[in-house]
Amino acid sequence: MNLNNDIKKILVTEEQIKARCKELAEEINKDYADKKPILLSLLRGSIPFVAELSKYITIPIQFDYMKASSYHGGTTSSGNVAVTILPSYKLEGRHVIVVEDIVDTGFTLSTVMKILAESKPASLEIATLLDKPAMRKVTDLSIKYIGFSIEPEFVVGYGLDYDELYRQLPYVGVLKEEIYKK
Ligand code: 5GP
Repeated sequence: MNLNNDIKKILVTEEQIKARCKELAEEINKDYADKKPILLSLLRGSIPFVAELSKYITIPIQFDYMKASSYHGGTTSSGNVAVTILPSYKLEGRHVIVVEDIVDTGFTLSTVMKILAESKPASLEIATLLDKPAMRKVTDLSIKYIGFSIEPEFVVGYGLDYDELYRQLPYVGVLKEEIYKK
């Protein structure tokens, strides 16, 4: 049993992700110098991305987490967003960067941003590893840091799951069709 064998094609390689994380981190180093931002990761998918991105951030940062999900084991977005874990830090007056694995319809982040705005952070921005702009249903979502824009197909790896599996793959790829039929 080797999960790599279930992958039809690799869309973004480990090397490409590493190189892009370095570039995004440099932007964050400049944009947030002296601001000690909170990197607020959305569980569970953003963990590999925040781990890689933060390696190259050289300014002081803090980590926090929250959980919001709209998928329930399938491959299409439900639009129903459940927030089940809230941040631990007090966000008022803080500079917050929400770190996400992928933006698809935008429902998840739109809900999360509304909830976080109520805490009155000094600033609130989004960093996402992947973006699927063709799938967007929420029009007023502004994303400051985007790793890669991809075509509207379902992807796994680098934090992204299918039925809670494949998150540990070190690249972003597309599953073989037969996997969905199992
Ligand atoms: P949105 O609310 O923007 O439609 O979806 C955001 C969430 O849906 C992501 O955090 C992710 O959990 C899930 N999602 C969207 N597209 C994909 C995809 O291509 N692959 C996987 N594994 N999850 C996705």
